Amino acid sequence: MSEEKTELELLKDELFLKNEHFSVCKKDEVTAADEYCEGYKAFLNTAKTERECNAWVIAEAEKKGFVPFDVNKKYAAGDKVYLNNRGKALILAVIGKKGVSEGAKIVASHIDSPRLDLKPTPLYEDNEIAYFKTHYYGGLRKYQWTAIPLSLHGVFVRRDGTKVTVSLGEKEGEPKFVITDLLPHLAKEQSKRTLSDGVRGEELNILIGSRPFKNDKGSEAVKANVLKLLNEKYGIVEEDFISAELELVPAFPVCDIGFDRSMIGGYGHDDRVCAYPGFTALFESEAPEHTALMVLADKEEIGSDGNTGLNSAFLKYFIADLAKAEGLEGRHVLSKSECLSADVNACFDPTFPSVHDKNNAAFLNHGVVVTKYTGARGKSGTSDAHAEFVGKVRRILNSANVCWQTGEMGKVDEGGGGTVAMFVANLNVDVVDLGVPVLSMHAPFEVVSKSDVYSTFRACKAFFMSE
Ligand code: MN
Ligand code: MN
Repeated sequence: MSEEKTELELLKDELFLKNEHFSVCKKDEVTAADEYCEGYKAFLNTAKTERECNAWVIAEAEKKGFVPFDVNKKYAAGDKVYLNNRGKALILAVIGKKGVSEGAKIVASHIDSPRLDLKPTPLYEDNEIAYFKTHYYGGLRKYQWTAIPLSLHGVFVRRDGTKVTVSLGEKEGEPKFVITDLLPHLAKEQSKRTLSDGVRGEELNILIGSRPFKNDKGSEAVKANVLKLLNEKYGIVEEDFISAELELVPAFPVCDIGFDRSMIGGYGHDDRVCAYPGFTALFESEAPEHTALMVLADKEEIGSDGNTGLNSAFLKYFIADLAKAEGLEGRHVLSKSECLSADVNACFDPTFPSVHDKNNAAFLNHGVVVTKYTGARGKSGTSDAHAEFVGKVRRILNSANVCWQTGEMGKVDEGGGGTVAMFVANLNVDVVDLGVPVLSMHAPFEVVSKSDVYSTFRACKAFFMSE
């Protein structure tokens, strides 16, 4: 039975902002979104750290014809190159028909995620149990990281300068690691601590062994046994931890969430859930008008400082090199360039509604979220995109029929956060934030919706191919 719309309903249809569920406004794309996310899940399972992402994406890019960038070479439209920054950050580029003369189209995401790093001297024994001391990386809620299986990833650089790669706890049959917590029966005092203080940094100690070397008497026999095993497996001695980068991440695999399988749960969606849509969109961007760049940065979770982070010059230098090859100045190219800072945003969580302004929050399944500014308090720590550029991005998304929404991080005085947007904007590039809304952001197990991941892919592709 169809009813005639009232005048009020017609007026609303004409004037009100529409914010629809993906399954309503893009019902023909639901299957495509599900299929697209199978590739994302495979990526998420195998590339859990910035180094592993870097290597994974380079291997995929080479299959698609990307070659290492050569500063002395002149490139033609359609050429595909990549710049590997120290095995931890990456720029992929497809040279456009106009080269970089009219600026580049940049999508910038990050491939580091919150985790537990090992301290420089991590190994110790306490009451015949061996442990690693950790130093957490990024903004994490420490209590969430206890009593879950963890895996160890990273590199040792040994005394002689050789490097050995570590990945332990992911494959079937491999041992894993864990941080113990108190039993509720004896947690009376601990339970009086505030939530943020519930588990302290110095309590995030990793359980790594409990058998002594040869059952010998003497001190530190358990530590000695662990070191012996590490020496046999990786050829390292204790001093090698000082020149190592070892990261503990959740050891569980990614999976579908919900009876309807509409969501994906896993570690490190932030920000691989924008990196993957970005580089897969670039892979499909054949012969764009403008040179298209996909940036996969490191260090975002600790403020983007360091030479693999976007507060360094590596993007600026790369663009200067592209410019020089065409007889242009890097600064002129940057000034005409545009960037989507592809990073996640807080998803409205009905269990905790009070932290959001519902009129300005991002909702699950409502598509990729465009965020004019992030930051905290009075817009501190953000680039705050110009209306003109937001307008342009809006036109690109609408004309490509992308499911998108807008949303702030949360209520004005509730907290806040930043992205790489301001560092790219500081290069005189027009930038706006855009990405996937995430539930339980920065937890060991974050949740996203498949339709939002797919919408982010569609958005990045439309941007790369835009005028
Ligand atoms: Mn992020
Ligand atoms: Mn983050």
